[in-house]
Amino acid sequence: MTQTKNTLPASYWEIQKKQQRISVLLLFLLFIFYFLTVGLISGSVLFSLGLILPGFSFLAGPFFIKYLVIVFSLSLILTLVNFLQAKKRGVQYILKNLRACSPDPEDRYHLSFLNVLEEMKISSGLPELRGYIIPTVNLNSLSLIGPGQQPAIVVTEGLLAETSRDELQAVVAHETAHILKGDTFLLTLVCSIAAFYEELIDSLDRQKEYSQPELKQTRGDKGVGQPLIYLASLLSYLLLNFFITIISQKRELLADATAVELCRDPLALARVIYKAQVANSYLGDSSVFTPLFLVPPDSRDIRETSRDKLFNTHPPVSLRLRLLAEMAHKNLKEVIEEVRTREEQRARARTRYSPLEESSPEYLEKINKLQQQARESLEKDSIWLARNARGRWEGPYVLGSLLTLPYFTPATRIKNTKENLEGPARNFPQIRFALYRQLKKQPLDPARHDKCPVCNTGLVEAFYEGVKIKICQTCRGQLVAMSDLEKIFARREMTFPESLQQKARAYREALLDSNIKPPVLKEKPPALCPGCGLQFTLRPFSYHYLLPVYKCYQCQVIWFEDQELELLQILIEEKTAGPGLNQN
Ligand SMILES: [Zn+2]
Ligand SMILES: [Zn+2]
Repeated sequence: MTQTKNTLPASYWEIQKKQQRISVLLLFLLFIFYFLTVGLISGSVLFSLGLILPGFSFLAGPFFIKYLVIVFSLSLILTLVNFLQAKKRGVQYILKNLRACSPDPEDRYHLSFLNVLEEMKISSGLPELRGYIIPTVNLNSLSLIGPGQQPAIVVTEGLLAETSRDELQAVVAHETAHILKGDTFLLTLVCSIAAFYEELIDSLDRQKEYSQPELKQTRGDKGVGQPLIYLASLLSYLLLNFFITIISQKRELLADATAVELCRDPLALARVIYKAQVANSYLGDSSVFTPLFLVPPDSRDIRETSRDKLFNTHPPVSLRLRLLAEMAHKNLKEVIEEVRTREEQRARARTRYSPLEESSPEYLEKINKLQQQARESLEKDSIWLARNARGRWEGPYVLGSLLTLPYFTPATRIKNTKENLEGPARNFPQIRFALYRQLKKQPLDPARHDKCPVCNTGLVEAFYEGVKIKICQTCRGQLVAMSDLEKIFARREMTFPESLQQKARAYREALLDSNIKPPVLKEKPPALCPGCGLQFTLRPFSYHYLLPVYKCYQCQVIWFEDQELELLQILIEEKTAGPGLNQN
């Protein structure tokens, strides 16, 4: 069992032959499934009819043959529609549902994933190997046959952040093994077939929302589409379980073995599986994709009982770990010990973040002065008054703030206090020009473009935990794309001082106790987005973390002042850390 024989297929041609065989087999199995379901449902209906109507028996000769022909053709139609639809759109639906996106070569972590993929493509002999990334801090991976029939490996941001290079190689090797063995092709198709019904449920749900917008609809409500939704969920559930009981669980163990042939490092693979097991590996609420994952989303519950063996998509993790450890002549305990040691080493290697308030008094004085000047310059440009819906004048505003007033339209009556002019906004050339620039996605005020909204220093590009962001080197504000936040929260290159940890603790306590207002780091005056020049909206960071931050929905960015992003990192990282990894 510990020795692995050569299990790799000889060529890509061999893999394609295998895929054809799998397609035919699945088509056949799908037909059997529909034949049985349609036959059973209609049969029981007809049978009960026979009990009510005297003299009617559907088992009677000529009727029964007609009946069989109908069931046969109906099943055939269902099979073909389902199968072709799955081949055509299934993967796209799965990728969309997982929110998978292409790696960004400018991101250090993504780049190293792309490099590992390139290496694996060469050593496995695959003509192509694509990569996708799911923006979540949870740990998991899967392989797919992509929309253009090319094999693809999908990993989460969490996995990229938590694995060393050899561990990432092991994950990619495991997924490549699935591709080489035809598992990926089989499972992608199975999941696509089952996803057909998920998609149907989605569209029925959406239809219901459109038809009855005044009623708050949930899936439990009664509606026209309701029986259909139940039937569709039942079918998708049955289909998936039907296939899963047929597909051998051994393929996970075999893929582990083949992965070791590819990466020659059973311990690295064991470490990743263990990490994914103890961390959160949840990837969305659909069970349709579970067979594809490295570890099932609820991996903690699988035990080695016969019932679990029958209905689970994955073998128990402890078995997989034991087998991998044996290949390197180690035991499970030693693997876990190594995960912990490496985790400690990484923790020591982190860069320490030091907050601005620890800087010298002269430096803080300098920043204060710059911020004062920035405020004054903003006040100087605040020359616009606007008349609100109640006819009262409000202001003065800078142009960027005026345009973001909720009641502002080109017809709003405004006043230019500098030139002492009054009229509808569209009459002012400055406003027309600003609206034009906004439409063209150009910055409203070139003089303030890419300058710190707080101290007016020029922003510079920098990398923060492998993510490209813009920073103010003077006051240490950070402009971060909303789409990059999951990456930052998944990665742990920084360590934070005790003073900030304390603030995080106080913050968490305030969240638990509704009587205490969560601490606000700083009072915030209005500020302009360095991207588009419109005024930032001051909003809580998220539903869970109420820290108010500057957001620009137009540019999809957040401006974090010193300590804010770091505080959020502490709060979120502590919440998502795996239970086994942070113990001392
Ligand atoms: Zn600044
Ligand atoms: Zn903006």
